[in-house]
Amino acid sequence: MNRRNFLKSAGIAGGAIAASPLLANPLFSHANRGSARGQHDLPYRLMDLHVHTTDEFTIEDVVAVGEKTGIQFGVVNNVAPWKMWDDEAVKKFFDETFPYPVYVGLQPMVLGWSKRLSPELIRKADYVLMDPQVLPNGNEYGDELKIWEIATYIGDVEFFMQRYFDHTIDVITNPEPLDILGWPLYLPGSVARDYYKLWTKERLSRIIEAAEARGIAIEINNTARTPHEEFITMAKRAGLKFTFGSDTRNYTMGRLDYCLQVAKKCGLTQSDFFVPKRVL
Ligand SMILES: [Zn+2]
Repeated sequence: MNRRNFLKSAGIAGGAIAASPLLANPLFSHANRGSARGQHDLPYRLMDLHVHTTDEFTIEDVVAVGEKTGIQFGVVNNVAPWKMWDDEAVKKFFDETFPYPVYVGLQPMVLGWSKRLSPELIRKADYVLMDPQVLPNGNEYGDELKIWEIATYIGDVEFFMQRYFDHTIDVITNPEPLDILGWPLYLPGSVARDYYKLWTKERLSRIIEAAEARGIAIEINNTARTPHEEFITMAKRAGLKFTFGSDTRNYTMGRLDYCLQVAKKCGLTQSDFFVPKRVL
């Protein structure tokens, strides 16, 4: 669907929402949509704190989807050698994004990222979200794995799991700024069939203990459909907060079907969610 058609069709639903003062309130706006999202009654404001912009899908497009759906977006950009890697680039991202009614976050991809940036600039971000998906020495060949890639090379599964688990703990305990652990427990397609076996209870507990000690929130990732019910329930019991994130960069942003399904199963309510402090 091209942008014009998308905005046109989204405009139909948006008009209906705008007509009702109750539904115009983001706290209730999700209650009356036609999809699976409309059938739940979770009493919290829907936020998708993990979306990106691209040259084809700009901040104006994000705002348009937010207006039509009532979902509050948080736009993040990667701090990485291949994206933003100095103050100037981050400042440009902030200048381009802060004027809009969205939260603005940083998503570093490699440990040591904060040494590249001035602390005052980092503090301006509404939050920092990091995931463990760039995995140094991820296999016995010493490769740096980008585990979202379909060709992610795993020789010995247990070697990979130990490295991935250790790196997840490193991301959490690393002293650099962090508010949200993204893509938790995601596994590459080649080993994902063994998810419940590979994520042992002990590994889950240790991740939760580390997150609790650090005081960070756990992203429920709609694209990865992770983490699972057991982990969320354990994390909730430990008092951890959650966010919803889609990691999308097109018109699908804000679709949160998995997040809503699993949140309902786990009995999450408004107080279980991390909300950035800035008033929009
Ligand atoms: Zn992302």
